[in-house]
Amino acid sequence: MWDSTHLCKFCDKKQTVPAQDDVCDDTRDFGVVEFSKVDTHLLPTILLIGRPNVGKSTLFNRLIRRREALVYNTPSDHVTRDIREGIAKLGYLRFKVLDSAGLEAEASSGSVLGRTAEMTANVLRKCKVALFLIDARDGLQPMDLDVGKWLRKHALEIKIITVMNKAESLDDRFGSVSEAAARTWGFGDHVALSAETGLGMNDLYQVLRPLLEQHMLQTVQGTDETNEEVSTLPLQLAFVGQPNVGKSTLLNAILQKERVLVGPETGLTRDSVRVEFKFEGRTIYMVGTAG
Ligand code: GDP
Repeated sequence: MWDSTHLCKFCDKKQTVPAQDDVCDDTRDFGVVEFSKVDTHLLPTILLIGRPNVGKSTLFNRLIRRREALVYNTPSDHVTRDIREGIAKLGYLRFKVLDSAGLEAEASSGSVLGRTAEMTANVLRKCKVALFLIDARDGLQPMDLDVGKWLRKHALEIKIITVMNKAESLDDRFGSVSEAAARTWGFGDHVALSAETGLGMNDLYQVLRPLLEQHMLQTVQGTDETNEEVSTLPLQLAFVGQPNVGKSTLLNAILQKERVLVGPETGLTRDSVRVEFKFEGRTIYMVGTAG
């Protein structure tokens, strides 16, 4: 069923998408990896971290759409703090998301060092990315600085993205806070959003997408010889370029058949074409974009 009021949240074209979905075919098709077909244990993990009340649980719930939440203790870390884990769905991306209360418990008692912080550090080591949440309305608080310092020390191998939450009613004042935060800690990427209303989730998607795609491709390459399950992950290859540069010709040459209409007229390929074939046992989706 199609709903004309429902627009793609993740591309600039604002195309109409099915009511039960949230992305248009372009966004779905042009991904490098089909995340929805990847085994959940192979998905990258992202940790939500920050002082209490910045909106970690709210963002967690939005990312998992209030489904699949799994609360468990981590016996190997010998602590009783709960970590919530779920499978996040953001556009065509899928990833494991962890909502950790470990660090904040210590932070609220005045120290970010101790057993629960240690546990958070252990969890952090399994993560690809940490989303460091700050309340944009409050600006930077001393406890944010503590968490930031702690992250700098413990998350050396992990990409940190500063998320300025509760940004739904802020104007340009917000941007400078966000940049200042990112600059102060040297974390670079920062995103303004509202976990409560969903504003800015597209920005989060844009920042996460290349990181997670690259991670999945590295996973595939790094484990090709040892893990057959991974090496058979479907791969998506998009042919992108100006009209008439030869995308369709190249696509046809690789496929060794006339799958796409080619000709000298600019923009002859009017619709995106998606072709599935097998190469050395792996499913490859090749997508020719419209001229
Ligand atoms: P946590 O302690 O970091 O997990 O924070 P919570 O998710 O429990 O949120 C703390 C409070 O902030 C709750 O009252 C939420 O409703 C509120 N909150 C979370 N996200 C937003 C947001 O984007 N905008 C506003 N205005 N409030 C938010």
